Amino acid sequence: MADVERGACGVRENRGGKYYTRVYGRPCSLHIDPIEKKPLNHVLPGTLSFSLATPGCNFECKFCQNWEIAQARPEQVPTFDLSAEQVALLASQYSTPTISCTYTEPVVYSEYVHDIAAAAKKSGIRTLIISNGFILEEPLRDLMEVLGAVKVDLKAYTEKFYRELCGGELKPVLETLRRLRKHGTWTEIVVLIVPTLNDGEEEIRGLARFVRGDLGPEVPVHFTRFHPQYRIQNLPRTPVATLERAREIAMAEGLQFVYLGNVPGHPGNNTWCPRCRSLLIRRIGMSTQENRLKQGKCPKCQQAIPGIWS
Ligand SMILES: [Zn+2]
Repeated sequence: MADVERGACGVRENRGGKYYTRVYGRPCSLHIDPIEKKPLNHVLPGTLSFSLATPGCNFECKFCQNWEIAQARPEQVPTFDLSAEQVALLASQYSTPTISCTYTEPVVYSEYVHDIAAAAKKSGIRTLIISNGFILEEPLRDLMEVLGAVKVDLKAYTEKFYRELCGGELKPVLETLRRLRKHGTWTEIVVLIVPTLNDGEEEIRGLARFVRGDLGPEVPVHFTRFHPQYRIQNLPRTPVATLERAREIAMAEGLQFVYLGNVPGHPGNNTWCPRCRSLLIRRIGMSTQENRLKQGKCPKCQQAIPGIWS
C-alpha cells in the first residue's frame, strides 16, 4: 500500500508508513432489531439487540443487501461520533441484552468491536458479530476474548463462488469457523442460497459434512432465500423447494438444527428437539412466538439444547 492508499475495505489508510482506520468510533447505522433478524436462533430468543455498523467491507459480494454502506468509503456516508463506551451505555439505556455489529463487515472495524465488547461486558451485555469470517487468526483471537456469539455467513462451499461473486476466499472462512468452535464461542452459520450459483446438492452435502465433521452436528445452519439484489438482478428468488431440499440434505447428514430463513411461517423457522422432535421455539420469520425451553432443555425429553438462553 503506497502512501495515502487504502486496502480493499476502503477504511484503512497508509499515512507515512502507518496504517490508520477511518471508522473507529464512527458508525453510520444504529438500530434496534430483533435478534432473530441477525439471524441467531440460539441466542436469547425474543429479545432485542442494539445494532450498529460502520461503512466498509473486505468482500465485494455481487448480491450484497447493504451495498450502499458496505461498499461505500467512510467519507461517502454520514457517520456519528460514538465512543465504544457510549455504545455500551446506549445499549444499557435501551435495556437490550446484546449489541450486534452487523449490516456491513465488523472485521474491518475490529478494534472498535473489541472495545465495544469489552465496555459492554462490564454491564453484563454480550456483543455479537455478524461476519463473513474473513479474518486472520490474531485479530480473531482478540475478538474471541470478548465476544458473546458470532454469526458467520458461509457464502458457498466452493472457491469459485468466493472468487467470482465475493472477491474473497473460502479456505480462511472455514479456518475461522474451526477456531471459533475450538475456542467455544457460540456460532451459527447462514448460507444464502442463490439459484444456480451455490444450490447444487453435492455442494450442500459437502457443506453439511464439513459442519458435522469439523464443527459439530449441534452448530445451527440457516439456509436463507435469495432476492434479486445489487448486481444480481437476473436471477429469480430462491424456490422454497430448493431451500427445503437443502434442509433435508443437511439433516440427513446429521445436522441437528437446520433453519430456513426469509420464508416466514415455514416450519423451518422453528427450533425442534433433535431427540424427540417436539416443537421447542415457534417463530414466524423474525418474530419468536413461543419458547417452550425449560432451563435450556426440551420440556418433554430433557434433551439439553445448545445455545445462550439466559
Ligand atoms: Zn425432546
